[in-house]
Amino acid sequence: MNFEEIDFLNKRVPKLIFGTLTMAPLQRNMPPEEGGKIIAHGIDLGLRWIDTAQMYGSYKHTRLGIEYSKIDRDKLVISTKSAVKSFNEMSDAINQALSELNTDYIDLFLLHAVRSIDDFKERAGAFEALLDAQKKGIIHSVGISTHSTVCARILATDKRINWFHLMFNKKGIGITDGTIEYQEETVKIIKENGGRVYAMKPLGGGYLKDSAEESLKWVKNHKLIDAVALGMTSIDELEMNTNIFKNLEVAKDLSDKLKSIKKTLFVFKNLCIGCNKCTEICEQNAINVKSDKKAEVDKQNCILCGYCVPVCPKFALRII
Ligand code: SF4
Ligand code: SF4
Repeated sequence: MNFEEIDFLNKRVPKLIFGTLTMAPLQRNMPPEEGGKIIAHGIDLGLRWIDTAQMYGSYKHTRLGIEYSKIDRDKLVISTKSAVKSFNEMSDAINQALSELNTDYIDLFLLHAVRSIDDFKERAGAFEALLDAQKKGIIHSVGISTHSTVCARILATDKRINWFHLMFNKKGIGITDGTIEYQEETVKIIKENGGRVYAMKPLGGGYLKDSAEESLKWVKNHKLIDAVALGMTSIDELEMNTNIFKNLEVAKDLSDKLKSIKKTLFVFKNLCIGCNKCTEICEQNAINVKSDKKAEVDKQNCILCGYCVPVCPKFALRII
């Protein structure tokens, strides 16, 4: 049984994308060599699209994975993202990606974590740099990633955006300003206008782990979704997810084992100085500084994206 595949410009790739956030310093903080081996194993199993980001800190993991697998670079799709604002900052981000990934082109480069339409407008310089690099052939497609379905809806008809990376799971977990039904309608408009969509957080950042198979199948089989990014840090996760995307059975003991692994965002309160940097970056309103001047996580709202981890000046946050 083979993967269901999609066209990505002149390449054919499986619908399952190897996401590198969960192995990166923001989350598991795996050594690049260890992460590279998992990525290489994924490539051996047939995966061909690797998703990374400047903010994740997983360029080295990705580069080593490609090197270890010995695959021809042109057989892979590499997507990355940057959350910078200006033209020059984005030009630097593109050069950093090319250099650290050891490649002379990027298949898809996205403006990362666009919070709102105002935020998109404020980052017009960065977006221009992406279009400029696309004209020069340095990047092959341009995209945006956003947790906001309202923002995606406004940009749905913008033909300069080739790909949207959107929160998409059956419960709508992580969508900051709407429901999954509203998001489905947004995606429909994007598709009608020629845009393409790959799903973010199909397991809701881990909250849908107890129904992982059913939740992944729901996104995989969704007619509007082109591809699905899923973070993987172990051979077990790779086996389960590739089986699901190949429509193969998943052994019960494997799925039970993975269900039993829980993640949480932990605040080392003895280190926290109550500076609020984490609360400012969190789009989910999931971390707040309380009257004792210590940060506290609202576990209902936290999607374990890890974006707050690197902004903490005291290294008081860790996903474990
Ligand atoms: S608190 Fe917010 S930024 Fe931090 S991991 Fe949770 S959702 Fe992400
Ligand atoms: S950024 Fe770090 S030190 Fe500042 S409030 Fe958040 S956890 Fe505390």
